[in-house]
Amino acid sequence: MARIRAAFHDPDGSRYGIPTFWWRGAPAGFATRRQLRDAGLRPGGQSVAAQVMWAGIGGVRVAYLYRIDLARPKRVASPRQRQAISRALRARRICPSCRVERPYYIPRSLGECLDCADVSAG
Ligand SMILES: [Zn+2]
Repeated sequence: MARIRAAFHDPDGSRYGIPTFWWRGAPAGFATRRQLRDAGLRPGGQSVAAQVMWAGIGGVRVAYLYRIDLARPKRVASPRQRQAISRALRARRICPSCRVERPYYIPRSLGECLDCADVSAG
């Protein structure tokens, strides 16, 4: 195990191009995309800052690490924004001709609900 750790230990990135640590050997301040997400963060446009490598089933595995200090809060719609979104979606189900809210979106091509479109077509 020590040899594997040594093989995957390249904090300067001289061997792998980016700082590389063995699994669980990464210093604080780095997190995987999943760990960021669990913390309510996202990489925020930064590129991969480091990687961890370990010998897993089927060969060497790699997980990419991002810098936590460069991570941004996840974009989460606020209750107000969610309300606005659901209002907008609901508006798309209301027929402009009969003002009835339909269980489907009013087709753009018709400009009104299927019932109204039928009537005007017949
Ligand atoms: Zn209608």
